[in-house]
Amino acid sequence: SAKRHGRNHDRRFRPSLEVKGDRQLALVNELRRALAQGGQLELHYHTQHQLKDGLLTGMEALLRWRHPSQGMIAPSDFIPVAERHGLMAVLGSWVIEQAVAQQGHWLTNGGPRVSVWVNISVLQLIQGDLESRIAASLAQHNVPPQLLGLELTESVLLDERAGDISPRLKALRDNGHPIAIDDFGTGYSSLAYLKRLPVDKLKLDRMFTRALPRDRGDASIVAAVLAMARGLKLEVIAEGVENAAQRDFLIENGCQQCQGFLFSSPEPAAAIEARYPATSRSTG
Ligand code: C2E
Ligand code: MG
Ligand code: MG
Ligand code: MG
Repeated sequence: SAKRHGRNHDRRFRPSLEVKGDRQLALVNELRRALAQGGQLELHYHTQHQLKDGLLTGMEALLRWRHPSQGMIAPSDFIPVAERHGLMAVLGSWVIEQAVAQQGHWLTNGGPRVSVWVNISVLQLIQGDLESRIAASLAQHNVPPQLLGLELTESVLLDERAGDISPRLKALRDNGHPIAIDDFGTGYSSLAYLKRLPVDKLKLDRMFTRALPRDRGDASIVAAVLAMARGLKLEVIAEGVENAAQRDFLIENGCQQCQGFLFSSPEPAAAIEARYPATSRSTG
């Protein structure tokens, strides 16, 4: 009968759901411990380059969790968990402090002198004292705000829980932070916000660059975004550039910067220092 079928169905699936729930709870507790004890979380840096000559223009700081028994856990696997369980403000503050401390170290001891960009979660805008956290880190490590870029996704900009973030963004930008819209093109937003919000840069999502130049739909979208950004005087950085054909299409259509495996993969600070030693200086 339907009832028996239902019971069987329950019996079959309930245990695995419980395991999943337990696993998630364990992950939350392990992440809480990792934040408190230190040593498991680290930032990797993904370099950004001028397309035409490869000149270093910036770096994105990407969170990594070296779990003691599970090895490296991807941010897409633990950031949503942190967000759901109230850990994102603390985690986000850790990222800011770590990135700024690294910049301070590079400024003092030599290293790449370009902006490091951090990802900002909507929950940092809602729960955290983001502005004062940033200011405290910059002051402590004697780092100018120009060297700390802030990436916010389109969804953050439109999340009503964050309130009207335009005055807060404006204040951060007036302080000197460059501001980028991350994963540009994947939201379902009206383009009108581009005129309204104080931003410097669009990060074109990998979804659109992946199949360039052969996918004609993507090619049209990318060309249109680049033309629009030129009109609005916004910089565009293309994510996910992996090969020369993508690079050539982007250059031909007026894109100036990229971040992708063609140039590098995200790597620890020590590897960055080895590639861009003390004498290396570039602008951007
Ligand atoms: P994102 O901010 O869009 O970061 C870019 C992601 O694309 C990175 O993945 C990077 O490794 C990957 N990527 C860049 N170029 C290429 C390429 O050419 N090919 C391929 N296949 N991938 C490429 P990652 O490090 O796994 O980060 C995933 C996402 O996790 C990030 O997407 C971001 O949304 C989130 N995330 C990472 N660190 C943080 C953080 O500190 N705070 C917050 N709130 N989110 C973070
Ligand atoms: Mg990002
Ligand atoms: Mg992105
Ligand atoms: Mg992305």
